[in-house]
Amino acid sequence: YVSIRNLRKFYGTFEALRGIDLDIAKGEVVCIIGPSGSGKSTLIRCINRLEDFDPASEIRVDGIPVVPGRSLAKVRAEVGMVFQGFNLFPHLSVRDNVMLAPRRVRGTSRAEAGKLADRLLARVGIAEQADKYPQHLSGGQQQRVAIARALAMEPQVLLFDEPTSALDPEMVGEVLDVMKALAHTGVTMIVVTHEMGFARQVADRVIFMDGGEVIETGTPAALLETPTEPRTRNFLGAVL
Ligand code: ATP
Ligand code: MG
Repeated sequence: YVSIRNLRKFYGTFEALRGIDLDIAKGEVVCIIGPSGSGKSTLIRCINRLEDFDPASEIRVDGIPVVPGRSLAKVRAEVGMVFQGFNLFPHLSVRDNVMLAPRRVRGTSRAEAGKLADRLLARVGIAEQADKYPQHLSGGQQQRVAIARALAMEPQVLLFDEPTSALDPEMVGEVLDVMKALAHTGVTMIVVTHEMGFARQVADRVIFMDGGEVIETGTPAALLETPTEPRTRNFLGAVL
């Protein structure tokens, strides 16, 4: 469903992604792990073209090439993203944050968008927070708003970049629980994470990156328990 061919990305002369090839099937849940600076964020930001990439590289989402112009708008309507730092609009209520994209992009009526927002906020367990502003919510609640906001466009693909790393430890579980529930809905998920427990339980496949390359991929059991590449072993030895 997401196909990545020879993905290369330069920041100036520094090559952050060195020819990544990856195919992710519809409904697949993939976790990306790897050391700091290995290119995990860059990789997922390329998928909806928050980062430009080498013109010789190719990314397709649902067959649509991720190139500037009309097709990019189509891709972005299918791809939702959740960031480490929530990135909610501080001047909008929780409900308005979730309503914004359907209103602006789809032209959904205020009443319809409001109903959709309330449904999604209930789904992530914070229906009662709809009228508050983001800064009055806990980190875990803010991240759940961000997930509801991403879901409002009914994306086929959800990208997560370390969604729990900025949270106090006691709030990590509530966000992971929402993500676990989502994983069973058939949406394709690509999750950069340090939560090995989540990867082990929920991922169909785990990808280990280092130095801008995919070093090893496998089922969680294979990659986390019996990695074959020395770099994967070293990394897991340090984090597990
Ligand atoms: P972390 O686990 O710390 O989030 P990461 O695997 O997500 O790391 P990236 O953020 O993708 O790593 O960065 C990959 C490499 O590209 C790093 O060496 C980083 O310094 C470099 N890099 C990232 N963004 C930029 C930028 N805007 N300009 C220049 N170099 C960048
Ligand atoms: Mg990162």
